[in-house]
Amino acid sequence: MALPQVIIIGRPNVGKSTLFNRLVGKRLALVDDQPGVTRDRRFGEAHLLGLDFTIVDTAGWEDEDEASLPGRMRQQTEAALQGADVALFVIDARAGLTPLDEEIARYLHQSTVPVVLVANKAEGKAGDHGLFESYALGFGDPVPLSAEHGQGMADLFEALLPHLDDKQPEFEPFETDEDGEEHDLSAPLKLAIVGRPNAGKSTLINAMLREDRLLTGPEAGITRDSIAVDWTWTDPASGEQRPVRLIDTAGMRKKAQVTDKLEKLAVADARHAIDFAEVVVLLLDATRGLEHQDLKIASMVLEEGRALIIAINKWDVAENASGLYNGVRAALDEGLAQVRGLPLLAVSARTGKGLDDLIKAAFDLRAAWSKRVPTSALNRWFDDALAKNPPPAPGGKRIKLRYITQAKTRPPGFVLFGTRLDELPTSYQRYLVNGIRRELGFDAVPVRLTLRTAK
Ligand code: GDP
Ligand code: GDP
Repeated sequence: MALPQVIIIGRPNVGKSTLFNRLVGKRLALVDDQPGVTRDRRFGEAHLLGLDFTIVDTAGWEDEDEASLPGRMRQQTEAALQGADVALFVIDARAGLTPLDEEIARYLHQSTVPVVLVANKAEGKAGDHGLFESYALGFGDPVPLSAEHGQGMADLFEALLPHLDDKQPEFEPFETDEDGEEHDLSAPLKLAIVGRPNAGKSTLINAMLREDRLLTGPEAGITRDSIAVDWTWTDPASGEQRPVRLIDTAGMRKKAQVTDKLEKLAVADARHAIDFAEVVVLLLDATRGLEHQDLKIASMVLEEGRALIIAINKWDVAENASGLYNGVRAALDEGLAQVRGLPLLAVSARTGKGLDDLIKAAFDLRAAWSKRVPTSALNRWFDDALAKNPPPAPGGKRIKLRYITQAKTRPPGFVLFGTRLDELPTSYQRYLVNGIRRELGFDAVPVRLTLRTAK
């Protein structure tokens, strides 16, 4: 499905290019240089809080002489409006309305393309006058914006959403994170194993690699050299081969480190692992159970937004296995209230039990962690969730929740729009986050919710 098209219209110097650049960000503008196509339009792929669209900037009349400007603009704008889903009509809130703005307003009123009025340069107080004046153009509430400073983008999202909602592309396995880097789910899974000294990390890595590449031993914290090992895991169920990049953080450690510092080192290792990994496996020792420091490492991993799996190692020597498993499960749910139902697996690095399940779980979790739900599907779920359990009404006045959007992936981040959101109880936020997890396929993924109060 092609992206919906948003066209920026306005007289020269109101900030159209600045807005275009802000919406396109670091992405390359697609220059349309097909023969016969007008040169004076710029196309870019825009991304605004989870909304994707093609943005078109109609520049190119700056060189025209004053007298011919209105006619030329009209011609260009009419051409550009063909095929547009919505027009962003930009005025300069500092300069106030000009006859040219009014002229543009007149022919936009004749068009069938919906118009969102944007009062740009609205930062500070200097734009107030132009903002109020712009109501006279007859396009309803203007969206106050500062394209230069990036203010008002959430309001712009809210104004655009009703026009673009049902035209959003469906989920694709290619995701773009906030740095604009593309991630391909067939790329190597970046996996790290962390845990207290002696939990069996090196033994586990060796077992996965099925060769004694790393050195292991009975003393805690033995040195390893390698930091990242690339290998291919074969899924025993399907025979499929999948690349893994295993990060061995303990390998960064120097040989001479003394034992009493090792507990601290486990935390430092976890920090390194978080920097590198998509999925972090926290390895527990079945002979010791879940200890305070494990919880500390686990919440650190989740706070940093990484996908987390807990594996209880040395299952071959576990006593009272089911009691141990249930005890760890309960302690995790109690100690890590932010993510219920983390994957908890029993493994033995020594016998190889459970290792394939562990890697499979890591791939599955990465997929969920990288996923984006289209805004339209998300809001269908959202309307339903609100109908089932309406937001509270503190002081008799109901809190209005308007839209929700997934603004990012890896980890998934959602933005909730509404009014009086500062009064929204955390229990209700939890209700929404749990619903997103359970009903939209983000089980066991750290999900973030940001509140955006609309004007
Ligand atoms: P265009 O001709 O409509 O494409 O306008 P430009 O994007 O080239 O911007 C014209 C001028 O307005 C430039 O000097 C920008 O730096 C400035 N400008 C753009 N957006 C803002 C804004 O939000 N606030 C202020 N104060 N200036 C802005
Ligand atoms: P690390 O400090 O976390 O890298 O732990 P090591 O891999 O060096 O293992 C510490 C000790 O636990 C070694 O003596 C291993 O042989 C032992 N060990 C590791 N995995 C298992 C396992 O699955 N079962 C049993 N019984 N012992 C294990």
